Amino acid sequence: MTRVALVTGGSRGIGAAISTALKDAGYSVAATYAGNEEKAAAFTAETGIKTYKWNVADYEACAAGVKQIEADLGPVDILVNNAGITRDAPFHKMTPQQWHECIDTNLNGVFNMTHNVWGGMRERKFGRIVTISSINGQKGQFAQANYAATKAGDIGFTKSLAQEGARAGITVNIVAPGYINTEMMSTIPEKVMNDVILPQIPVGRLGEAAEIARAVQFLVSDDAGFVTGSTLSANGGQYMS
Ligand code: NDP
Repeated sequence: MTRVALVTGGSRGIGAAISTALKDAGYSVAATYAGNEEKAAAFTAETGIKTYKWNVADYEACAAGVKQIEADLGPVDILVNNAGITRDAPFHKMTPQQWHECIDTNLNGVFNMTHNVWGGMRERKFGRIVTISSINGQKGQFAQANYAATKAGDIGFTKSLAQEGARAGITVNIVAPGYINTEMMSTIPEKVMNDVILPQIPVGRLGEAAEIARAVQFLVSDDAGFVTGSTLSANGGQYMS
């Protein structure tokens, strides 16, 4: 039986690496994106993985999107909540808009997506949910009160749902990456990268998206049924909780 995996924000960055790794592992994969048509079209052309556009912050759009993917590929067995944004600012300068955009995508988006696959997973007595949190949700980060709150919230959400899903064969886990070499990182000035960020990482380099994908691939496998409610940190030793 081919399991169906839905990866939010699966068209680029870490999400693209996850989508590709799952496809290569034999899953039937659907990747979603928010609006970058060009990247999504290029990703589909390159990988053959179909992409679907909607905003994870919109509950009804998530419901309709999941329905469409289930019509195209079959019931969703695996959900990877990867879509995420940053809206950085020191708190005294943070606008309500920056706060709400982060919460709406990174935390409400995780609710919206998970809620729309949960019932089916419970009925079928199988499910795998992995949410991509962040090292900054574990330790906090200057100018990221909004982002860190969402990523810490994702961890509490996961630990709670792991308890609710256990009897129904649904595992719910977190992967918490450290600094990964993606476009999100390209906004960081080179001097900050070399003088501030890299010296904090014991392995001495950024992580690669493929390394996060491999962690996800393990957690969504049928073999990982005894691993639930856990947070798998992949941060080069930068933070050990
Ligand atoms: P990218 O910015 O490279 O890609 C983000 C993806 O999410 C894109 O596909 C984007 O779609 C999609 N997306 C963004 N907002 C929405 C939305 N509202 N609805 C639907 N899709 C959306 O991100 P990364 O690959 O860097 O990060 C992926 C995840 O990993 C995030 O949750 C991030 O917080 C987390 N993370 C990243 C780290 C890093 O170092 N990069 C470190 C720790 C955690 P579109 O292409 O259309 O914009």
